[in-house]
Amino acid sequence: MNEVKTPKKPLIYYYVIMLLILLLFNFLAMPWIAQRQIREVDYGTFMQMAEDKEIGQVEVQETENQIIFTDKDGTNVYKTGMMPDPDLTQMLKDSGAKFSGEIIQQTDPLLSILLNWVLPIVVFVALGQYLSKRMMNKMGGPNSMMFGMGKSNAKVYVKSSEGIKFSDVAGEDEAKENLQEVVDYLHDPGKYKEIGASMPKGILLVGPPGTGKTMLAKAVAGESNVPFFSMSGSEFVEMFVGMGASKVRDLFRQAKEKAPCIVFIDEIDAIGKKRDGQMGGNDEREQTLNQLLTEMDGFEGNNGVIILAATNRPESLDPALTRPGRFDRRVPVELPDLKGREDILKVHAKKIKVADDVDWEKIARMASGASGAELANIVNEAALRAVRDGRRFATQADLEESIEVVIAGYQKKNAILTDREKRIVACHEIGHALVAARQTNSAPVQKITIIPRTSGALGYTMQVEEGNHYLMSREELENKIATFTGGRAAEEVVFGSVTTGASNDIEQATKLARAMITRYGMSPDFDMVAQETVQNQYLGGDASLACSAETQTEVDRQVVELVKRQHRKAIEILEKDRKKLDELSDYLYQRETITGEEFMAILNRDGKSGN
Ligand code: ADP
Repeated sequence: MNEVKTPKKPLIYYYVIMLLILLLFNFLAMPWIAQRQIREVDYGTFMQMAEDKEIGQVEVQETENQIIFTDKDGTNVYKTGMMPDPDLTQMLKDSGAKFSGEIIQQTDPLLSILLNWVLPIVVFVALGQYLSKRMMNKMGGPNSMMFGMGKSNAKVYVKSSEGIKFSDVAGEDEAKENLQEVVDYLHDPGKYKEIGASMPKGILLVGPPGTGKTMLAKAVAGESNVPFFSMSGSEFVEMFVGMGASKVRDLFRQAKEKAPCIVFIDEIDAIGKKRDGQMGGNDEREQTLNQLLTEMDGFEGNNGVIILAATNRPESLDPALTRPGRFDRRVPVELPDLKGREDILKVHAKKIKVADDVDWEKIARMASGASGAELANIVNEAALRAVRDGRRFATQADLEESIEVVIAGYQKKNAILTDREKRIVACHEIGHALVAARQTNSAPVQKITIIPRTSGALGYTMQVEEGNHYLMSREELENKIATFTGGRAAEEVVFGSVTTGASNDIEQATKLARAMITRYGMSPDFDMVAQETVQNQYLGGDASLACSAETQTEVDRQVVELVKRQHRKAIEILEKDRKKLDELSDYLYQRETITGEEFMAILNRDGKSGN
């Protein structure tokens, strides 16, 4: 074994430390041990013993100014201080004592052998044992392959030590219902065997990041009270071809030993990507995938090992992996809806102290589109804010502010806008809100602010969806585009010039218009033909074109036409409502932040607007 490779600190490090300890021991402890056995006596006793011829060996240490001597049979060692005694040598000679130079070392030959030879050997052997054991553990057990590189390293949560239950996962009722069956099976596999039904071997949890896929897998283990092996797809992929495959083998071997149990592979797309058969493909990844496919085929449906896997790129998975018999069940874990968001907020609010009067529904409404992880983050941010402000619990205001922090970043305390810039931003934001409010189907405005944020936004209008929208009509989409263009339109109407502040609006309006034409079949010319296909549904939803160059030109033309039309509409609305636009912009400019109610109150006041 090439041991030098593995531990983080080189072995020589440990040996040098040991050597130092031994040297110290020799210098300090040995003389002490030897000294301990020497009895100190006065000079009189020494003379008396010499006279009585009771001295065996004697050593005169002039440099130390002492005399060391033994009794006749050499069992006891004595020490005494030296006196200026010219007859000393003669007296000792007469007493029949033997002159010797090494009394101390000779005192106990066994002890000195022990200390000088046996102890160092024992220490070194023990150190060697300890190090090799540590290395083995690191690599995964004594019977591991070469350095244990082929071991799975899966984290095992026996009996779900984290204790996550379905009740901890809020919302996601469909997913929970689907997984409940697995729990039921793990509790009582006999029931299923009796009928001859076999559980799916693999269940694929798909959904955007942070929607609770990992949590659900842990909850299944927690509910069914079985061991839970957790591993990330990327952990399988090693530097050497074949190592990942052997890790897969090892994982399944362990799982079968512990059955019934759950194996959870997070981010399975790291190994499960489509094999494209091109030159220079990733051999290691493909072998690992092949091994996974073989292992999944290799065990019978009813042996109690259930494989859960999570991914946010299901479309990139190899079809062989998702065919029935392997990952044959797919459980979508989608972004939570209004009710789900409220539930998730409440679950996480249990962990912090909150005021009693918090309106969770309102918070959930404001956080539209947020994932479970983001909601957890929002609650935590609120708690942090409360601490920062020296309060003992989080309030509604904390929660609302933390939503904005998560969406737009922290308030930029020292961003100083010029007066004119501030007026333009106020007018821009009111433009969005006014266009939204004047179009019948647009969602009402929740809050408008012109306090700059660290994300770079100089201000923003927070719109709130009233309920859950599953379908959107062409008119609603068009209105949305008009609302996006409302900010720029207001600048044009009031100031007669345009600024760079609308770049984000432009991006969003274009994206929406493009989707309407290329994917939703809302263009007059293309009927129900798709010009684009979405690639990463759960990761931003990038689309790739699937049409000829001529059609692309036509698509571009239509997108521009659509946005232009909505832009014109927004300008018309604002021109008609110019008075309100000015009044509201001024109000926002003074206050910096206004709520939806304030906005609506001014909008509906005395109706003297041009509307
Ligand atoms: P994923 O695996 O889907 O990326 P996780 O399961 O790791 O997401 O979730 C991350 C965190 O988000 C969790 O630890 C939890 O705090 C929170 N979370 C996500 N979804 C939920 C939910 N439905 N209920 C409660 N908390 C959730």
